[in-house]
Amino acid sequence: VSTENQDVLRAYEWLTKLYHHLLRHTKEGKEGYQYLIDRGFTDNIIDTFQLGFSPSSREFIVQFLEKKGFHPQTMVKAGLLSMNDQQQISDRFRGRVIFPIRNHLGKSIAFGGRSINNQEPKYLNSPESELFHKGKLLYNFDLARSNIRKKEEAVLFEGYVDVISAYKAGVTNGVATLGTSITEAQAKLLRRYVDTVVICYDADKAGIQASYKAAKILKNAGCTVKVANMPDGTDPDEFIQQYGGERFKTEVIDLSDTYMSFLMRYLKRDYNLNLEGDRIQYVESVLDEVALIERPVEREHYLKELANEFELSMDTLSQEIQARRQKIG
Ligand code: ATP
Ligand code: MN
Ligand code: MN
Ligand code: MN
Repeated sequence: VSTENQDVLRAYEWLTKLYHHLLRHTKEGKEGYQYLIDRGFTDNIIDTFQLGFSPSSREFIVQFLEKKGFHPQTMVKAGLLSMNDQQQISDRFRGRVIFPIRNHLGKSIAFGGRSINNQEPKYLNSPESELFHKGKLLYNFDLARSNIRKKEEAVLFEGYVDVISAYKAGVTNGVATLGTSITEAQAKLLRRYVDTVVICYDADKAGIQASYKAAKILKNAGCTVKVANMPDGTDPDEFIQQYGGERFKTEVIDLSDTYMSFLMRYLKRDYNLNLEGDRIQYVESVLDEVALIERPVEREHYLKELANEFELSMDTLSQEIQARRQKIG
């Protein structure tokens, strides 16, 4: 690590502590604290995840870093401070609740800042840097790793809040990609520790689309993939607020769909199964997916499901699979 990056790491460490202190113990941080309490966070959770608040003052953080001897230019370059067109330097995250983003060693290497008064953007993240590569890091991996091993399962979320809410509910093996879909590097990282990954993204259009992509990427990395099934329009945090952590565990995580059941549910959305043409197209698209499954028992299982649902013979379906598998080679 270069000396400049060492400085940046030290600055992150100082700021993580300062933001957290301000939130917990000062009147400047009161609105951030109240925001989190209103959303159901506890002191214990706020401490575990080192959540903080950046006061709305333009200079406070700038002066703090300067007093500690950090070069403003380095801080701007690292994205801790921002500079406007008039060369005026200010805190990038001012007025926001701070979610420190920790690396696998538990060190802060970036921040996610959430606005608390509907200011756009809702989330502001640190920019990519030599220390922070969004596509390689999984949020909360440092705390979740041992639980992932113990439970022999990881749960993949979309957002920090979902990870934290689930953690509070006892689902301590959760990690998150930071908004974007999972990358190959992240999938490989998970696969080194665990076989089974439960995808638990938001049950909205974007989330379901992202689940489909993530399922493929995780499957390619060699994972056994499951996909949680939540009521339309909710995200994991909202589910937990509404129905409680126990139901989240027993109904959402434990009853998550297998990879193929999810695909069948997903593909159905594109078709009107009351129309014969659509029914045929749907069956064909499921067959395309089934043909990719390596285990014959597993293939047969899904073919039986299709045969029953669409009153087709197993012979016909098996022939369709053979033809497809010959083409794949
Ligand atoms: P909240 O419950 O606080 O609204 P959320 O996790 O439900 O948060 P989503 O809108 O579902 O928020 O987004 C999921 C994740 O995507 C966030 O945790 C954040 O990392 C990322 N994200 C969302 N909006 C933005 C944005 N405008 N810019 C950058 N990242 C974003
Ligand atoms: Mn979302
Ligand atoms: Mn969400
Ligand atoms: Mn949410």
